[in-house]
Amino acid sequence: MKFVSRTIPQSGGYYTRDWIDMKKKYLYIETFGCQMNVHDSEQMAALLAGVGYQLTENSEQADLILINGCSIRAKAEQKAFSELGRLIKLKEQNPRLIVGFGGCLAQHLGKKVFSRMPALDLVFGTHNIHRLPEMIAAVQKERKKIKHTDFSTKITSLNIFAPPPEGSICAFVSIMQGCDNYCAYCVVPYLRGPEMSRTPEDIIGEIKKLTKLGVKEVTLLGQNVNSYGKKLDHGCNFVSLIKKINKIDGIERIRFTTSHPKDLSDELIACFADVPKLCEHIHLPVQSGSNHVLKLMNRGYSVEDYSEKIKRLRSVCPQISITSDIIVGFPGETKKDYQETIDLMETIRFDLLFSFKYSERKGTAAQKLQDDVPETVKRQRLEDLQALQDMHAQEKNSALEGSVQEVLVEGQSKNSEKDMMGRTRSWKIVNFKGGPELIGRQVDIKITKGQLHSLRGKIEET
Ligand code: SAM
Ligand code: SF4
Repeated sequence: MKFVSRTIPQSGGYYTRDWIDMKKKYLYIETFGCQMNVHDSEQMAALLAGVGYQLTENSEQADLILINGCSIRAKAEQKAFSELGRLIKLKEQNPRLIVGFGGCLAQHLGKKVFSRMPALDLVFGTHNIHRLPEMIAAVQKERKKIKHTDFSTKITSLNIFAPPPEGSICAFVSIMQGCDNYCAYCVVPYLRGPEMSRTPEDIIGEIKKLTKLGVKEVTLLGQNVNSYGKKLDHGCNFVSLIKKINKIDGIERIRFTTSHPKDLSDELIACFADVPKLCEHIHLPVQSGSNHVLKLMNRGYSVEDYSEKIKRLRSVCPQISITSDIIVGFPGETKKDYQETIDLMETIRFDLLFSFKYSERKGTAAQKLQDDVPETVKRQRLEDLQALQDMHAQEKNSALEGSVQEVLVEGQSKNSEKDMMGRTRSWKIVNFKGGPELIGRQVDIKITKGQLHSLRGKIEET
């Protein structure tokens, strides 16, 4: 995932490095991975703006290049390295260029990255973002390689205020970092450390600042938001945090991700009926429909527990959309286990699914299990599962045809310059004819067509 630049400093026309005001410094960031990594990149940009770096979308113009890599699966790791390999070659034309490698992947590999990429200047981990200006100054001054991948017991990096790209209507807000769950396949607890929550005061202060910049919708981020506040002395749990945010003037919509099924409480389920600004969507990763596999994964719930929670969610909020994550080909997953996942999908019918082939990760508990599902079988299972999911998604979106949906308009559509784009409260993309004056407004849209990945609609005349 590329980090979208907030400002494009050049005004157009052809220009070479000689024409650039050398007092200005340019930063190019490339981001891979989830919303957390995107948000980490926003924090890096905000912090470096404070020491004079302006974002650029042109890597050849950059004085500083940062790659924010993801290591959740082997494929993401390969992508980040191939991009690093391409970008580091720019040092041949510009010896003053500083190249840094950060995020989960840097945390994972530490100084080994230097042996793989000897020209690299800087490696920094997930708890060291706030030290970037100091690290860059040291590289510049001492012209030596710097590595900081130590864990901190404080959440300094999370408290960096990162304004979202200019004109944004929606913003991410990290409410916690780390994870204590140790699912057998997952590297996150090793890379982002133990769970730590920000104080409600810091979170609310940040959201109020965001409203002043025009933000109307916030997505609260954490690996398991249900655990929010457990280690704080504030007596503020996730539900009380949502209720506090609901009272903030200027905020119209609240979302969160990710929620772990084992910790999804009845109190939180009730919020979908009782908290007006909380949108009717939950991302609740199930990972597998087989109790045998869920146990091996150390997920802490059964298929029956999960189904019961979905039933309760749908009973308090019938229009809720449900999205999930599934891994196929986990060690020991038999044909029967896989069929049980398919059966669960048929019963639940997710609105959207993020599905992955199991990828063995060093240091995880699953690494000790034999990765015994052949690659061809993993690939076939993933293909079949995705084909089924496409049918379900199409069915769900077609069912919305003729309905009127409240859409928060985010900007121009990617499909056509004449179209605008927004999301329903249930997190579905809607494209419709309209002008930029609608950006930031909630508009009633009549759905005319349910497509596989989005909805088409027209403004409902009142
Ligand atoms: N904390 C969230 C949770 O518990 O669901 C998500 C964490 S992870 C960044 C996002 C998704 O990546 C997971 O839900 C899982 O489906 C997938 N994932 C994590 N490790 C994986 C692995 N080793 N192989 C394949 N998929 C993996
Ligand atoms: Fe990884 Fe599990 Fe933590 Fe999610 S809850 S980040 S899958 S260990």
